[in-house]
Amino acid sequence: MKVFKFGGASVKDAAGVRNVATVVKRHAQDDLLIVVSAMGKTTNALEEVVRACREGADAKPLIAALRATHEAALREVAPDDGHAATALADAFDALMRYVGRAMEGPADRNYDHIVSFGEVWSTIIVAAHLNAAALPSHWLDAREVVATDGLHRAARMDWERSAANAQKVLKPLLTGQPARVVTQGFIGRSTEGYDTTLGREGSDFSAAIFAYLLDAESVTIWKDVAGMYNADPKKFADTKLLEHISYKEAIELSYFGASVIHPRTLQPLQQKSIPLYVRSFVDPEATGSTIDHQSANDSLIPSFIHKPGQVLISITPRDLSFVVEENLSGIFAAFARHGVHINLMQNSAVAFTVCVDNSHRVKPLVLELRGEYEVRWNEDCELITVRHFDEATVKKLLQGKEPLIEQRSRNTARFVVK
Ligand code: ASP
Ligand code: MG
Repeated sequence: MKVFKFGGASVKDAAGVRNVATVVKRHAQDDLLIVVSAMGKTTNALEEVVRACREGADAKPLIAALRATHEAALREVAPDDGHAATALADAFDALMRYVGRAMEGPADRNYDHIVSFGEVWSTIIVAAHLNAAALPSHWLDAREVVATDGLHRAARMDWERSAANAQKVLKPLLTGQPARVVTQGFIGRSTEGYDTTLGREGSDFSAAIFAYLLDAESVTIWKDVAGMYNADPKKFADTKLLEHISYKEAIELSYFGASVIHPRTLQPLQQKSIPLYVRSFVDPEATGSTIDHQSANDSLIPSFIHKPGQVLISITPRDLSFVVEENLSGIFAAFARHGVHINLMQNSAVAFTVCVDNSHRVKPLVLELRGEYEVRWNEDCELITVRHFDEATVKKLLQGKEPLIEQRSRNTARFVVK
């Protein structure tokens, strides 16, 4: 069994859906579990639906627009599939009814219920097209398998229940010659029976979850870039493909902000030694990147990760007393309470400085800290991480920039620059 994952960009329109069939056809003999994200920017559009509902505005025109594009795509890729057309119409009707009622229950639970429709719609279309293209496949509701806790918008896995669900619901679908299943990324179900999501861009993680549950031989993430690069190829020229790196290196890179793979994806894969391939759906012949246990190549190419939109926050006790453990634990607790994730930190005798993503959460946090501390902040900073750096590249990188913080370990150099 191989697991394939197709993200929103790869299925953004009818041509994208057809291309999924082209890729699958090249693996026509393989047992495949195909994990699909919502089409294009559908999840963003559904977030607008959530916002409209919350503000008491009319969400129906937004849904009608999504319906028009999805139905048009289905008509293009599977014109004769009445069953799929009905399933798609039913799913849109269900969302229309849901937003027509007054919203009850916690906001994040409603959010999860609404945004999870995107993956349901896309998978109905992809499965219908595969069937039309003589690549028969079962449609699986991922929520029947992916069991989570009730932490909406960032649900955590319940592996035991998921494994039991996989036995009961997924295994019986693996009958065809070859077995082929299409299912949704991103979504799951809580113990209480509500829809949950694994966090934005969580479909990579879904692919790893299914691979783990099925002891798959590999996971392939099909992307609009040819693999993992040493810097974002959409922003920088002269980037190099990382042909082969270890799980550990890939975890480090995605932790520091490389956006190619969702950070939670690698852990289940490395636990079961399932290799991850990142390949191009535009050029499916190209070999792409391999991520597995082998670390021999990790340090061959320096990698650069740029995180713009950072704020540097500097926290000093008002009486200029030392920053000690008691202060720090209070400060950390405040960050956790406000959901502000620390990207980098540094302390001196009387100041504790952190670098975080700028968001609406920062201001309330700063206001709270100002009760006890003098807090200064510096917006519009950029955090640059260089893995396997050498002095020449660092020098070039910092040219014309003002480094506010500099940290180096053996493998990694990090700079906050303005
Ligand atoms: N559709 C979801 C999102 O856009 C999940 C994903 O794409 O991985 O965040
Ligand atoms: Mg997406």
